Amino acid sequence: GDVVLDVQDLSVVFPTEEGLVKAVSNLTYQARLGRTLAIVGESGSGKSVSSMAVLGLHNPKRTQITGSIKLDGIELVGAPQSTFQKVRSTKAAMVFQDPQSALHPFHKIGKQIAEAYLAHNKVSKAVAQKRAIEMLDLVGIPNPQRRALQFPHEFSGGMRQRAMIALGLVNNPKLLIADEPTTALDVTVQAQILDLVNDLQKEFGSAVILITHDLAVVAETADDIVVMYAGRGVEKGDAKEVLAQPSHPYTYGLLQSLPSHSEDLTELKAIQGTPPSLLNLPPGCSFHPRCDFKSQVPGDACWTELPEWRPTPGLANRQIRCHLTDPVGTLQEDEGVR
Ligand code: SF4
Ligand code: MG
Repeated sequence: GDVVLDVQDLSVVFPTEEGLVKAVSNLTYQARLGRTLAIVGESGSGKSVSSMAVLGLHNPKRTQITGSIKLDGIELVGAPQSTFQKVRSTKAAMVFQDPQSALHPFHKIGKQIAEAYLAHNKVSKAVAQKRAIEMLDLVGIPNPQRRALQFPHEFSGGMRQRAMIALGLVNNPKLLIADEPTTALDVTVQAQILDLVNDLQKEFGSAVILITHDLAVVAETADDIVVMYAGRGVEKGDAKEVLAQPSHPYTYGLLQSLPSHSEDLTELKAIQGTPPSLLNLPPGCSFHPRCDFKSQVPGDACWTELPEWRPTPGLANRQIRCHLTDPVGTLQEDEGVR
């Protein structure tokens, strides 16, 4: 599909009293119509920050953004708030972790959706209200006529999520950003929301960016993947292929810590250590303090040289930032070498 969102060399830095927090460093990715891109990482990896920048949800006075973010051809780095306001309602919509934060607590659900539609379409209130009810129906809310007249607190968590998706999609955005859309929900409702996002994508043909730490969710939903670590992309490619055969030691470690990848639960292996402070990134490869493969790289490159993107031999469309020359799955992990 066509590229809707083209992020090039994006860096997002927050100056603080303790120094510069490098939330995102030199991130590049594309989201395409009709495809779902998963941006995967632990908390603090920068996976949410990059999409906040897309929607202009950062505080411009306290954020330094460099690089390029082109949404449907419009450059957003350095754009005025008026551009972001337009973008947020007509070109890109975000589904938040917490629907409470997107829905106004004291306005009826149907009216909120109708007003979002009215703001960008020259139609009557009656037409907008009809559109709101159609949207509620589309996202699988039963009795949408009646439900449209209720307030957010009268909806269950899953229903609020659906209402928020309806609100996000009412102006046919080309990009839907779902940031941990399911973490607050139980497993059954999670699955239903993911199915809904998949179905809506087929119906609207939009691009979806799914931001998550949950690789099971990625396996269900994504076409493409970017794995982030400490504000940088470390592996990208076809989502199913990356999950089946990770090339970067960090991705490999994430997968090893998943129950489904180990027959025997005692073999589950969490990645040792914790992510670095974004105030003080390690030199060389940011992952080196935690990496079980660094002794396979000759010399001290892992400690001293930031790896550039490069293709993985034998894996088409796969890019990693790592000094290893062989895909990680073919190597033995270091024993006791930290
Ligand atoms: Fe590990 Fe070195 Fe690759 Fe970084 S560059 S992931 S430290 S092997
Ligand atoms: Mg987040």
